[in-house]
Amino acid sequence: MPSLAETLARETREGDLYEVLPDGRLRCYACGHCCPLPEGAIGVCKVRFNEGGRLRVPWGYVGGVQCDPIEKKPFFHAFPGSRAYSFGMLGCDLHCGYCQNWVTSQAIRDPSAVAPPLAATPEALVRDALRSNARVIVSTYNEPLITSEWAVAVFKEAKAAGLGTAFVSNGNGTPEVIAYLRPWVDLYKVDLKSFDDRHYRELGGRLQPILDTIRRLHADGFWLEIVTLLIPGFNDSRDEVTRLTEFVASVSPDIPWHVTAFHADYKMLAPQNTTADMLMGAAAIGKAAGLRYVYAGNLPGRVGALEDTRCPTCNETVVSRRGYTVRDYRITARGTCPACETAIPGRWSDKAAG
Ligand code: SF4
Repeated sequence: MPSLAETLARETREGDLYEVLPDGRLRCYACGHCCPLPEGAIGVCKVRFNEGGRLRVPWGYVGGVQCDPIEKKPFFHAFPGSRAYSFGMLGCDLHCGYCQNWVTSQAIRDPSAVAPPLAATPEALVRDALRSNARVIVSTYNEPLITSEWAVAVFKEAKAAGLGTAFVSNGNGTPEVIAYLRPWVDLYKVDLKSFDDRHYRELGGRLQPILDTIRRLHADGFWLEIVTLLIPGFNDSRDEVTRLTEFVASVSPDIPWHVTAFHADYKMLAPQNTTADMLMGAAAIGKAAGLRYVYAGNLPGRVGALEDTRCPTCNETVVSRRGYTVRDYRITARGTCPACETAIPGRWSDKAAG
């Protein structure tokens, strides 16, 4: 039986996101690690490698597919109530000890993560998405940046079929990969895990490439939402949450910020679970930092109005939610508040789907 690594090494094609360095090594630009790869070397992600002077990248499979409410991604300002057909491949450029998708993201790196690849084509995935009544197709579950070439192939088919497209990502990007994705990706969710570079190094990354990517995504016109999983004792100090939300507000106060509840998972079992009071405290800090759209997630019905979208001018509730369910949708066809006509930023439909 071939190992998972051997199987995945076959499920590849030559990538687009690399250059040949003067010394013959390859520089991969798919994520912020920018690995320099000598002949035969594999990247930090464990799925992109130099073979014969060409960069081989994942192709032709998925690690899993599922149709989710778009609110689960979470996108709250994009096609509320619609279905998001979600697919992932395998591997990640980080190794977060609390990953909730570790079976797919840590495949190869962690021998206990066993997720066999399923053969797929872009055409078959899009057909399945249409059959599932999806409005949007999403690259998620593993880190989509490291499998960008495959995502773009799927998204080309998806756009031709009239679907929206989205990335659910850790945001560890580069200028090259963001330019590559810009024609094909409509919605982008960044998981901003911390505002402390030491914490990011514990997870296998650095803070700066993620901040640069957030600025670039907003400037380039992707619809951007940001989520932070609030982990007691890791990233929940008042100082850190203040600096994180002030940064997001400095990019734009109109970027929705979701603060969500941690529960023990994978290797991070020590911290207590996040409470509703902790979420509401962090949300208050985000609002004080100037953010207009702050949401508290994962604890439905326990966070007051922090699941709803309110008009920042007149405080009218324009979208009412409970968990992933849209209970009332009052945004006008022009994307404005029905009471005072203030424009609510996002990608809106005439009415909520589903
Ligand atoms: S995707 Fe990132 S980790 Fe993987 S080879 Fe490229 S630069 Fe390295």
